[in-house]
Amino acid sequence: MKKLFLLEIFILFLFYCVLFSQQQDILKIRNLYLKGEIAEPQQVENLKLEHPQEIIRNLILFEIYIDKKNAEEASKYYSYLQSFYPVSQLANYRMAEYYLSNKDLEEAKNYLQVCVKNDSRFHEARYLLAKTFYQLNDYKQAFKHYNVLSWFKSDKEIISTIEYLSSYLATNGNHIKKEKGILFSTIVSSQKINSPYIKVCISTKDNGKLKKIDAVKFFVSSDFFVLDERDKNLLECQGGKNNEWTIVYRTKLGMFGVISPYLNKEYRVKSKILKLIPKTENSTFIIKEYKWFKSSFPLNKEFRGELLIKHLSNQIIVINNIKLDEYLYSVVGKEMGKDKPLEALKTQAVVARTVALYRKNNKIHKDFDVCCGQHCQVYDGILSETETTIQTVNETLGEVITYNNKLTHPFFHANCGGITSSGEKFFCDKTYLSEVSDVVDNNFSISEENLYYWYLTPPELYCKDSQFVHLGVSRWLRVIKKNELEKYLNNKFKIGNKLKDIKILSREKNGYIKKLKIIGNKKTAEIKKEHIIRNIVPNGSLKSSSFIIEYNKNNDCYYFWGAGWGHAVGMCQSGSCGLAERGKNYVDIIKHYYPDVEIEKIY
Ligand SMILES: [Zn+2]
Ligand SMILES: [Zn+2]
Repeated sequence: MKKLFLLEIFILFLFYCVLFSQQQDILKIRNLYLKGEIAEPQQVENLKLEHPQEIIRNLILFEIYIDKKNAEEASKYYSYLQSFYPVSQLANYRMAEYYLSNKDLEEAKNYLQVCVKNDSRFHEARYLLAKTFYQLNDYKQAFKHYNVLSWFKSDKEIISTIEYLSSYLATNGNHIKKEKGILFSTIVSSQKINSPYIKVCISTKDNGKLKKIDAVKFFVSSDFFVLDERDKNLLECQGGKNNEWTIVYRTKLGMFGVISPYLNKEYRVKSKILKLIPKTENSTFIIKEYKWFKSSFPLNKEFRGELLIKHLSNQIIVINNIKLDEYLYSVVGKEMGKDKPLEALKTQAVVARTVALYRKNNKIHKDFDVCCGQHCQVYDGILSETETTIQTVNETLGEVITYNNKLTHPFFHANCGGITSSGEKFFCDKTYLSEVSDVVDNNFSISEENLYYWYLTPPELYCKDSQFVHLGVSRWLRVIKKNELEKYLNNKFKIGNKLKDIKILSREKNGYIKKLKIIGNKKTAEIKKEHIIRNIVPNGSLKSSSFIIEYNKNNDCYYFWGAGWGHAVGMCQSGSCGLAERGKNYVDIIKHYYPDVEIEKIY
């Protein structure tokens, strides 16, 4: 027996000698490490490698030392890895785990904070951070992080911890939010601009579905009229910060109730719709909250234009009827961010104008033109406007993107990860939605050989992290414990309680996964839909369907190394910042992402 064992070791030793003397592909060594077949650093340390293989070698060494709980040696490689995002994320996360296992909560906290700062959607790191703050008795910070987690995952443990913390903080005087007084903004209207109007529903969820509400409470900065469906003037009302108005739909009566702050009665009116029209230019509405019976949903957002309140069977919807360009002042800020390069913001303005008109003309929604969520484009009123967003909209006034003299449907997304997807996955095979490369070296393409490096050590990209693009957007990492993933996938796909493998069956040219197979001990599930692919992990979905998976037997964890954020069709918002930074103007940027289109001024 013993002899056989020695012989095996000798054969293995020879095998490694051959392998390493030829300096074979470091990825093979990475795989041996992940399978638990390399445990000694000497087996890797003497390799002399070039960039980027060197990074992978040092990652392997770092992980070997951290597996051995030798933090001193590990930190040598840790420092090296810090220059290489997203590899650095794994190093931070594993350092944190090491200190947690050593009960050194302060040290662990520091590493976890770096993970979360780099990538706000690294949920596993945030979960450990929330727990660590809790154990350190920093309940304010713990509450903050548990609260963020609950947006993505609301399991019993998180909900009950939040409840406990919020009542603790309230009784200790820490957590009483001061009510902000009503403060109207001073706005400059685009009155001279001959802009078409657009009806934006401001009571929808992010996915475009209606919020269930039957009342709205609001303030108007100037006096205003209430009109019915035939434009008959019903009421003349006082505005100002002391006059809180409520409009409620009385389902049993089939009537609207207008509740005035100063007349002690409810004014009832039968009409399909109520139109609230301010008496003066530059007036604004502040919507304080929506209600559904006794439940309240605070909003506290301010809007230009007019409000339309419509009833649909037993509920109401609230619509902001506003000049298209004034709507864009907000969308440009909300969709791209206010502090982006001017030409990138102009690109967003032209794209968002085209999207709004296309959706309006094609009646994507029945009762209004666009919703206020990601389903159409995100709009939250005056809050997201700045001087720059107003400037970019006004300087591109009336400009839209056309193809063959027709309005286009210019999809856009946060970050493509380096190469965009074609519109095929939305059944839109227009040439203006074909794959576009954001790799600075335009001859680059993804192949089987460089796929791993594409995710871990990407080439120079227009949409790579920069002063305008935050770290976790172009590349990201998620780390999931095997037993958690097994439990989640069995719940979701009934594959059995043992996960055997996740196999990627096909990818688009840009790396986005088209099909994958989850193999369990009972069943195999084949998945094709993008949003389901992004949801094969617990704790909140993956940023995109572009990723590779590693399973590390040594710590029993799955690593999801990913690229990009969103569906990758059309304009890449990060990339348009990178192109603007390199001196391109908005026309160049639009033509980069939508080949063969024209930019036309239609008003
Ligand atoms: Zn929508
Ligand atoms: Zn891109």
